[in-house]
Amino acid sequence: MEPLQLGVLAALTPADIEIKMYDDRLESIPFDEPADLVAITVETFTACRSYEIAAAYRAAGNPAQILMGGMHVTLLPDEAKAHADSIMTGDAEDKWSEMIDDLRCGRLKPRYDCAPVAVPQKGILTRRDIYEGKKYLPITLLQFSRGCRYNCRFCASSVFFKQHQYTRPVEDVVAEIKSQKRKTLFFVDDNIVADREKAKELFRALIPLKVKWVSQGSIDMLADDELMRLMVKSGCMGNVIGFESILSESIAEMGKGVNRGYMANRYADAIEKLRKYGLQTWAAFTVGHDTDTAESILETCRFARKNKFTFAAFNILMPYPGTPYYEQLKEEGRLLYDGKWWGHPDYRFNHASFQPVHMTADELTQAAFRCRKSFNSIGSVISRAFERRTNMRNPYRFMTYLIYNPLFRREVFEKQGMTFGYGEK
Ligand code: SF4
Repeated sequence: MEPLQLGVLAALTPADIEIKMYDDRLESIPFDEPADLVAITVETFTACRSYEIAAAYRAAGNPAQILMGGMHVTLLPDEAKAHADSIMTGDAEDKWSEMIDDLRCGRLKPRYDCAPVAVPQKGILTRRDIYEGKKYLPITLLQFSRGCRYNCRFCASSVFFKQHQYTRPVEDVVAEIKSQKRKTLFFVDDNIVADREKAKELFRALIPLKVKWVSQGSIDMLADDELMRLMVKSGCMGNVIGFESILSESIAEMGKGVNRGYMANRYADAIEKLRKYGLQTWAAFTVGHDTDTAESILETCRFARKNKFTFAAFNILMPYPGTPYYEQLKEEGRLLYDGKWWGHPDYRFNHASFQPVHMTADELTQAAFRCRKSFNSIGSVISRAFERRTNMRNPYRFMTYLIYNPLFRREVFEKQGMTFGYGEK
């Protein structure tokens, strides 16, 4: 998918500055191409590769200054600083133009600490021309809000935004949608319904635009029928919803208070309501809670298959640096890979990075992999397709189901055990 954050940075950059965007997932980077600044956005999962890229620019003798920013840099600035000439923490809007001015005068500072921006992307339309010619999925990524008011213990976003949600003016979002041609949108918000009244304002404004959209939202959206009606009327096809676990103990353990009211009958009422509204749900589960056993993890998979979710993720809990969950595991001496899974040469994608309570780390890795394989098996894809109120609601929904399920099935096998870096020197 299109890297939204780079389109925003491009839009923040003065027009007289030439920009070239390279997406390491899709193309090779010409490390010797002359440039004044190389800006790299770093997520925890891409930290290792980002540091390799910085090293490759230097190894190629490129005199460009290297700037790193993003979630991981904000969580671990000292680590990132060792690989860059300059770092930027927090939301770039606050200090991007100051950094550009410094660069023009040859006085790039070693560090820019951005204050939270009350209004993200204020008056700024994402520059989408930088995506042209690259093979992204035909869906437009944009944001209405950043952050979330909840504080689930494993959530890095909650730490980054300090339990706040910052929203854009609805008119800016509408202008951005009108500025591009696509009618299928992905709001990559952490929790689009964290502030229900603001979400309603957005949904009302989307109705006349006749778009189709997906996003991410907490399950408590279902407590507000007006919100749900507006959501559907505005073109929502479904959301990624953090179910996390089918065990109340795990929900309590992770501080996911927002889910508690839906656990009495194991989400049955919530799932029925999602079906009633015709939403195709991507159910996100986390596995490896202290109460989890190999059997409870497989039971989670059976639950997901039985409820015929359109998509589901079975993510092993990841201790992100800076989160309460990371600190807890550190204190208990349960972190593996020297407590730095994101940079450890032996760590592999989708592997457990901590010592679980009721099984070995390898058993947890295998249990999660089994869930992904089972949920995405051909038999499961066929049987889940026959959910008449969601996946078979209309031909468009059915096509969406048929196009994306095989893609995700392929990813299950392609991504398992991937390394984080290429070993580029
Ligand atoms: S509801 Fe979602 S976005 Fe909000 S804190 Fe919890 S995990 Fe993070």
